[in-house]
Amino acid sequence: MTVSTKPKVAFFDFTGCEGCQLTVIDALQTHADLLSAVEIVQFREAMSERDEDYQIAFIEGSCSRTSDEARLKAIREQAQIVVALGACAHLGGVNALRNWQSSDDVRRYVYGQGGKLYDSHKALPIQAIIRVECFIPGCPIDRNEFVNALKALLQHRLPRLPDYPVCAECKLNENECLFMRGIPCLGSVTRAGCGAICPSFGACCEGCRGLVSDPNIGWLRAVAVEHGLREGGFEAASRLFLSHELMESEGDRHGKH
Ligand code: SF4
Ligand code: SF4
Ligand code: SF4
Repeated sequence: MTVSTKPKVAFFDFTGCEGCQLTVIDALQTHADLLSAVEIVQFREAMSERDEDYQIAFIEGSCSRTSDEARLKAIREQAQIVVALGACAHLGGVNALRNWQSSDDVRRYVYGQGGKLYDSHKALPIQAIIRVECFIPGCPIDRNEFVNALKALLQHRLPRLPDYPVCAECKLNENECLFMRGIPCLGSVTRAGCGAICPSFGACCEGCRGLVSDPNIGWLRAVAVEHGLREGGFEAASRLFLSHELMESEGDRHGKH
């Protein structure tokens, strides 16, 4: 019997739409070199085999149940490297929109009288529960960024991500700033790497790749108001992907953490 010496990789899904896993499947179909460099031992979206012996864990989806927390901790115990895959795992994602309401209200709204049967809680990024070595941002992730991240991990280094704002890429694309049309955009505080795809097609950046390291949110609020956007417009625009981060920074400001 031949024993494989390839790094063992597992993919896990928590609360999310599975779009990031589909992007992984898409990326791997055109990178047979990568497929032959690793042994995928668990990937519910793509295969039925399942092995609990792995070194690299890619985790998609946010943590939104008490049972998720135990599962995440078990993965952390096994894996040497844990990667948050996509905005849900990295930021809490769109799911964290529900965090603005109480769990009781959300359960009642979604499940009616049966709500008490479901143990869902706030949608959290996985790093709120376990240590994470790195993340691949975006909703969904970028296929090339996934490929580059896997290559980096196979070379025993962590993937490097841009830490400058989407505005830089937007300027390189020679776009007119959406603020000039009275449209709020989060590009100045959001991590680049997507090629400013949304503003390049006339849609505002909604922050799906998360904030840069030192975002000047106060300045962005002021610019939004200066361009005639009503107060609160920035908050509304940023809730889609940044609810958890905004709530955390609000908590910090009030000394809750
Ligand atoms: S980050 Fe977006 S594409 Fe990925 S699982 Fe979450 S909702 Fe789906
Ligand atoms: S449209 Fe958005 S990303 Fe582009 S320059 Fe303006 S704020 Fe920045
Ligand atoms: S422009 Fe903003 S919302 Fe659009 S893909 Fe890039 S980071 Fe995400």
